[in-house]
Amino acid sequence: MEAMTPSSTRWAAIPKDVAALRVRPNLVDYDAERAAFSWEEARRALDGLPGRGLNIAHEAVDRHAAGPLADREALRFVRADGTTRSLTYRVLAREAARFANVLAALGVEPGERVYSLLGRTPELYAAVLGTLKHGAVFCPLFSAFGPEPVRQRLQIGSGRVLVTTRAFHRRKVAPIRDELPALRHVLLVDADGAPDPGTLDLAALLADASDTAPTAHTGPEDMALLHFTSGTTGRPKGAIHVHDAVTAHYATGRFALDLHPDDVYWCTADPGWVTGTSYGIIAPLVHGVTAIVDEEEMDAERWYRILEEQRVSVWYTAPTALRMLMKAGAERATGHDLSALRFVASVGEPLNPEVVVWGEEAFGLPVHDNWWQTETGGIMISNYPAMEIRPGSMGRPLPGIEAAVVARDETGAPVIGDDGHAVLCEADATGELALRPGWPSMFRGYLDEDERYRRCFAGGWYLTGDLARRDADGYFWFVGRGDDVIKSSGHLIGPFEVESCLMEHEAVAEAAAIGVPDPVAGEVVKAFVELKPGHEPSDALRLELIGFARKRLGAAVAPRLLDFAAALPKTRSGKILRRLLKARELGLPEGDTSTLEAGR
Ligand code: AMP
Repeated sequence: MEAMTPSSTRWAAIPKDVAALRVRPNLVDYDAERAAFSWEEARRALDGLPGRGLNIAHEAVDRHAAGPLADREALRFVRADGTTRSLTYRVLAREAARFANVLAALGVEPGERVYSLLGRTPELYAAVLGTLKHGAVFCPLFSAFGPEPVRQRLQIGSGRVLVTTRAFHRRKVAPIRDELPALRHVLLVDADGAPDPGTLDLAALLADASDTAPTAHTGPEDMALLHFTSGTTGRPKGAIHVHDAVTAHYATGRFALDLHPDDVYWCTADPGWVTGTSYGIIAPLVHGVTAIVDEEEMDAERWYRILEEQRVSVWYTAPTALRMLMKAGAERATGHDLSALRFVASVGEPLNPEVVVWGEEAFGLPVHDNWWQTETGGIMISNYPAMEIRPGSMGRPLPGIEAAVVARDETGAPVIGDDGHAVLCEADATGELALRPGWPSMFRGYLDEDERYRRCFAGGWYLTGDLARRDADGYFWFVGRGDDVIKSSGHLIGPFEVESCLMEHEAVAEAAAIGVPDPVAGEVVKAFVELKPGHEPSDALRLELIGFARKRLGAAVAPRLLDFAAALPKTRSGKILRRLLKARELGLPEGDTSTLEAGR
């Protein structure tokens, strides 16, 4: 256990004056709210289905469509040219019903998996909600994935249906379709009456479908969502989430995002990431607010215009994006009328204190960091509008969430006391961030990998794989990853996936992938390659290998940098010592690699 000085001593805390806030926060007294909170009580804010049933689509749209919010804008899409189109709750409910009917007509059974490989198009939202309404399981993929990650994830989840575009289908799916016998239907959102061979025209199917459909009688523990994430080794992990997750989406939307009925809320997350579903779709709709959806990619000027013109009040974004805005200069923001904005939150990677404070200069508001991961399904630790911010800290656990820092031994394993409970670290000591199991959006398994799931729990806690410390006042501080997983622009990248791809190249004998610091993306992927005899390092080969990986893995996963190595460092059992490579790369002492991630 390593003692550290809390970073709060370097950055002045940002006090909060509740009386000065434009809207009274949902959470004012943190301790009182925690003491009074129960998940049972939180569930009461939802409708439920007769007989203790629960369905996310019902909570997110159908109940609003049948009530006073029916004609409220649910989603407002901002097109490339800045014009908008809106779907009310009533219309969104109908679109979801049509999609559910399409699935029924295609013979899709409850529990079967429907995947998406899409940008932020209206069809995505109908597909998510229609899939859940039908009782099937929704699984989003990053559209920046190349064919290889797409193939693996569709195979692992036995994807039955894929909703995508013609271009993605041609580039990423057609080349691997033969390897996906379970994939029965590929639905193109832009077939325009002329679907490619082996695909169907989704618009035509929707046009023929009825706009009312029964809601599947799912229970709270029925599988609803499948989100893929990566570990250091092995294949991608399919984290299973159930319909009860909506209880956590509701409660965290209320406390961590401070959603109020009149909010115009904008979540910038990619739809392929868990945040894109939990907070890009479910949480705002369950709260009945209007969610902005930008159909385009990040661009500083465009984003400021959206904040201004759409009168965004609550904004949920990510450190890489904020760093890009910071680079563009605060004056870009101050030239815009951001007076509607009242709360800014960020997630996904470490948020540097500079950015938290810069928010005040650019938006007149500090940035509120929060922490969670695919497995937790929802926000677990957060900074709240009414609570002092300690820049660099992720904040304090949500009501209903118990978090702790578990001591680790020299091998990185949790220390378990004689009583069978994990030993917790003292204040300001680094250990593994752990959560007490039992919150509704906790993953219920990794698909077909029970042992891997079981290994995530020890001594009464779910172990997150992140290193953290907790200060004496209960604020949590991120220290680094406990494993070799890479976080680049918010994407979690398993080094093994990158290495396996490179090793398919005829010149490569061995490969290792690590994350190296990058001022904007947090980290970028760097690969080290040992060549087979008969191949010589050269710039041409470097470019070829990067291109090879990019074509297969896609830009989000492929290495940005690549070096040749005469021999890669390995343990006696033959495992590549990525940490040693990283120590060398960062100029850290090679002997002690245990703190490599510290102070990133
Ligand atoms: P993902 O499952 O892809 O959402 O990635 C989750 C991981 O992202 C966490 O385990 C952390 O390593 C990292 N992460 C998420 N939020 C934060 C944060 N606020 N500060 C630092 N790291 C974060």
